Amino acid sequence: MKYQPVIGLEVHVQLKTDTKIFCGCSTQFGSEPNSQTCPVCLGLPGALPVLNKKVVEFAIKAGLSTNCSITPRSIFARKNYFYPDLPKGYQISQFEDPICQWGWLDIHLERHEPKRIGITRIHMEEDAGKLVHGDLPGLENGSGVDLNRACTPLLEVVSEPDLRSSDEAVSYLKQLHQIVTWLGICDGNMEEGSFRCDANVSVMPVGTDKLGTRAEIKNVNSFKFVKQAIEYEIQRQIDLIEDGGTVVQETRLFDPNSGTTRSMRSKEEAHDYRYFPDPDLVPLVIDDAWVERSRRELPELPGQRRQRFMDTLGLPEYDAEVLTASRALADYFEAGVAAGGNAKAVGNWIMGEITRALNDSGTAIEACPVAPAQLAELLKLIDNGTISGKIAKTVFDGMWKSGKAPLAIVEEQGLVQVSDSGAIEKIIDEIMAANVGQVEEYRAGKDKVFGFFVGQTMKASKGKANPAVVNELLLIKLKG
Ligand code: ADP
Ligand code: MG
Ligand code: ZN
Repeated sequence: MKYQPVIGLEVHVQLKTDTKIFCGCSTQFGSEPNSQTCPVCLGLPGALPVLNKKVVEFAIKAGLSTNCSITPRSIFARKNYFYPDLPKGYQISQFEDPICQWGWLDIHLERHEPKRIGITRIHMEEDAGKLVHGDLPGLENGSGVDLNRACTPLLEVVSEPDLRSSDEAVSYLKQLHQIVTWLGICDGNMEEGSFRCDANVSVMPVGTDKLGTRAEIKNVNSFKFVKQAIEYEIQRQIDLIEDGGTVVQETRLFDPNSGTTRSMRSKEEAHDYRYFPDPDLVPLVIDDAWVERSRRELPELPGQRRQRFMDTLGLPEYDAEVLTASRALADYFEAGVAAGGNAKAVGNWIMGEITRALNDSGTAIEACPVAPAQLAELLKLIDNGTISGKIAKTVFDGMWKSGKAPLAIVEEQGLVQVSDSGAIEKIIDEIMAANVGQVEEYRAGKDKVFGFFVGQTMKASKGKANPAVVNELLLIKLKG
């Protein structure tokens, strides 16, 4: 029998606010344990939460960017469970009436039509603290509770079970990641847990439409692991069914070392969260004016920008896709074009030399030592024949290292292209005289030798000879 996998994702997006969701403590990562706490996030009796307006604004932006409706009156609820990193004994979250509902994203897989993935809801909630194990100050081989992260604002984005393969799941996840980082509401750092996901996976026989029983795989923290975890889980469920077993609803944990998932708790052991509206927080009312104001403040989104790069700047789809990978990259590209660079050429240089140099040095595009206007300047020098495309790479390396303007480097290092046919002719004559054998071979019909002469001429000119002139002269001279 053939099986159809079904996947739904729950993504936790940590919001990049300066302060926590219900108190004024800092959200800075990596500080001294418990240095960023107060009675509210410590869960001390009598302390009252006050909602951070920024969190609401970020949630609205996330909702509008994923085609959600914004709920006019949404409610905070208490999700009750016991764990040492949860001082109040409940997490403030949203259950009924979350802030955003009924959204979608279109994913684009290569060689496939775009596919619409439903977003059930986006809700706001607070994060828990974390447990630290090991040798701690004043406590050998012990466990401690660090509540710096308690009360950090999160959005949970829940998809419909619309995804049908690990590739679709990764594509959806990457797009969501791109949107929240583009909006500047999340730093997107998956290793630090700023963007993490639970994957719900089931399989059903092809041809049926009743969904199978799902397993929920917890906290998968890289795109690669999401793909691995889903693929392993699909195969595990198929094998189980083929062997006459049945899939049980359970929570499973992904182990990145083995690439497998293992059971964490079954449905019977699942928590009963006993949700109820939090009496300490009033309903959150968002009127149309607020929604419209947020809509106006939205930046041009990655998909819109990609389309504009294709429509008005004439970029191929592939280039437009790569150049809108991040907002900073797209800004860099547009600044280069605004400074007079040809769009296709600016794009090629960004995707080529600049990306290579950034990767090699571990630099982010935001800190690129070559400014967009300098890149445009370099391209102008190629266009007007001052330097060849090949020499431009040398000039670029100089710009990268020194931060100097391209023309300054060309002049300093004497890199101006030689287009003067007299000078080039002289070089060619010398090379032909020194390689009489090859000249004869060429004349006897061995066309390949032509490349040898081009190479020698360029080398003798230290790369400065204008390649077009070299070619033209060699054709004439070699003919004899
Ligand atoms: P819970 O809150 O218990 O995790 P939800 O109903 O909110 O349950 O569903 C959570 C996620 O599980 C959603 O992303 C949803 O799309 C997904 N999901 C629900 N049923 C299935 C299924 N049969 N197979 C795969 N995913 C599913
Ligand atoms: Mg869940
Ligand atoms: Zn606090």
